[in-house]
Amino acid sequence: MRTTNITLPNGLVGPDGQIVREITIRQLTGEDEDLLRDKKNLREGGVINKLLKRAIVSIGEIEDKKEIARLFDTEMLSADLTTLLIRLRMFSIGERYSFRWKCSVCEGFTRHSVGLDALEVKEQSDEYRGVKLITKELEDDDGKPMTIEFSQLYASGTNRLEAINQQYASEKGTRELLLQLKRVNGASPHPQLLKSWSWGLRNRVRELMDSTIGGIDIELEMVCNNVNCGNLDVATMPIDLADFFFRTGGTSKHTMVKPYREYGTPQQSSLDNGDGLLRTSGD
Ligand SMILES: [Zn+2]
Repeated sequence: MRTTNITLPNGLVGPDGQIVREITIRQLTGEDEDLLRDKKNLREGGVINKLLKRAIVSIGEIEDKKEIARLFDTEMLSADLTTLLIRLRMFSIGERYSFRWKCSVCEGFTRHSVGLDALEVKEQSDEYRGVKLITKELEDDDGKPMTIEFSQLYASGTNRLEAINQQYASEKGTRELLLQLKRVNGASPHPQLLKSWSWGLRNRVRELMDSTIGGIDIELEMVCNNVNCGNLDVATMPIDLADFFFRTGGTSKHTMVKPYREYGTPQQSSLDNGDGLLRTSGD
């Protein structure tokens, strides 16, 4: 069985209270493919977590399956999950990933391809490693000082994200912020409060929360290759299960895309083209 070691950008708190960042995973097998293709599993959701959990051979020195499952469920950060998923895909299937993308201007679908090994990894700052509740200060819409307390998003929270997409589609932004935001100026935040904030303030809060976490940057710059369009966009790399695991990319008819940082500042508005399955870490 082939295995490989991965260093998580953030890490998790192990049983002795130490930060564990080294994970060993094994290559995916035919049995894993069957699990992914089983429609029953797809309906139940959480199939990605199930797959990742199966593929982990050890977390640090821990090889006990039950303990691995416990740590995965309670301590693994969502951003590390994305890293793990991308590394597992690279190791088991390949580095070239081809996906379908919808242009925000002509609304046409085109196929693009990216080298997963080119995605930039940002390490979490040591001061935030393993910290469950982070306090930060910023200015509110009136320029007054404001204190927020927030937690990171954990792997277990990705199920909540999916539920939000279904139950609270009309106030998704607010509900997603509430998942992490525990206190504002010492009090529990109410949805109404977050709705009264300016969009700019909400973005500043998001940026502040994102600045405390590491992860793989999956923002991509893409040029629409439909005739007469040529729109330049920045979009979140969609992780669609069918594309990510069952289709290998890299033929000449694809447009190659790279993380946009390599090109400098994006020229046009950014677009979230993600499917909401996984939360990405920001920059
Ligand atoms: Zn287009």
